[in-house]
Amino acid sequence: KPEEGQQEEEEEEEDDDDDMNEGNTVIGLLGGGQLGRMLCEAANPLGIDIAILDEHNAPAKQAHNTNRHVVGSFKDPGRIKELAARSDYLSVEIEHVDTEVLEDIEKNGVPVEINGEIVTHRPPIHPSWRTLRLIQDKYLQKEHFKSSGKTIPIAEQIAIESGDAALDSLKKAGKQFGFPFMLKARKGSYDGRGNFKVDSEDDFAEAIKALGTLPLYAEKWAPFVKELAVMVIRTEDSDGKLKNCVAYPAVETIHEDSICTKVFMPPRDVSEDICEKARKLATEVISTLWGRGVFAVEMFLLEDASLMINEVAPRPHNSGHYTIEAVPYMSQYKAQLHAVLDLPVPDKLIPRVQSSIMLNILGGAKPDSHHHLSGLARSTYDDDMDVYLHLYNKESKPSRKIGHITLTGFCSVQELEAKAKPFIDLVDQIRL
Ligand code: ATP
Ligand code: MG
Ligand code: MG
Repeated sequence: KPEEGQQEEEEEEEDDDDDMNEGNTVIGLLGGGQLGRMLCEAANPLGIDIAILDEHNAPAKQAHNTNRHVVGSFKDPGRIKELAARSDYLSVEIEHVDTEVLEDIEKNGVPVEINGEIVTHRPPIHPSWRTLRLIQDKYLQKEHFKSSGKTIPIAEQIAIESGDAALDSLKKAGKQFGFPFMLKARKGSYDGRGNFKVDSEDDFAEAIKALGTLPLYAEKWAPFVKELAVMVIRTEDSDGKLKNCVAYPAVETIHEDSICTKVFMPPRDVSEDICEKARKLATEVISTLWGRGVFAVEMFLLEDASLMINEVAPRPHNSGHYTIEAVPYMSQYKAQLHAVLDLPVPDKLIPRVQSSIMLNILGGAKPDSHHHLSGLARSTYDDDMDVYLHLYNKESKPSRKIGHITLTGFCSVQELEAKAKPFIDLVDQIRL
């Protein structure tokens, strides 16, 4: 049993802990996965406190020590209000959150006690709940782009009826689009989990079996030659007027089984002119939304060199991980912090390397299937290629994103790809 004095000392130390982020601006974050974790890694040296609402010990919570984290679901209105009460600003690392409660917080605030008095607290929410609500429904998201008054090309789409009418609705889609076409869940989808490629009428029954309980829509097949993505920083005045949309370089994203596996910067065999067009289009798209933050614009590059928008993510994104090392003065995570807090952001985002490749580490068949790959990353030192390993401390499950590796070089992206071959081979092997 400790002596009395000793106990007091220990208690004092705990009190010190309670004040560890005293005076720092607090961003309350809904969701604490790897994106939140990397946001925390950017926030720590900047003296910004991040209060995370997610499960106990979620990956992001491990990366930032504060007494303001909230344990619970980012879909739970009560917990979201609790987070709001202890935050100066609110933001998200995932778009699938309860936007009704965010709207309520913006309009009515949350009660907080200051010096024994109850006052109404209204933390600004960025990006806006309007943007989150729109983007949650991929069908409505694209209807919005269509009617925005800007020229934003999207694939033709039709809403699919639910229940017994689904079959007729699918037949209509088949007639209108031909085959294959893509059947998609309107909401809640990620890593392609809500997508079903419909090759012919024979697939209708299986498609309905796979997705039939969800609100659905159908999209015309996009015969793309490549997929590109552009991250955009969106800033606004405090009265909600758009200040600026600044684009990062365009990147090439490779999806296998609908999961992003690799990202190349710059895109391989794509002209600078097309990359510029992609960046311009991405800023147009993001200018139609509301609120501050970083946004990902996923697009298809078609055979005739034209671009088509696939979807937008209202947050840091897998296709922007490379910016941590390639645009170190303003990574997508630092940009999210600066945008949300209305701190200055640069009007040009120029990489400090010539090329970079991001490889996702996906869980393999066994919990240690990726160990060769992380081992290679730890042991590779090369004058012409820098290697950066990021593990998220998530349990490994097949196809789950558990980490990534960024490779950077002062050579062409093709040369970097040749250098990176042992890494790429291992990434491909894990998936077999
Ligand atoms: P994310 O994890 O990016 O949120 P998601 O579940 O929302 O994925 P989508 O982005 O809609 O899914 O689609 C995943 C992938 O499926 C795309 O990156 C693309 O490779 C392919 N895909 C989607 N729509 C089409 C289409 N209309 N035509 C052809 N391929 C498509
Ligand atoms: Mg999506
Ligand atoms: Mg997508």
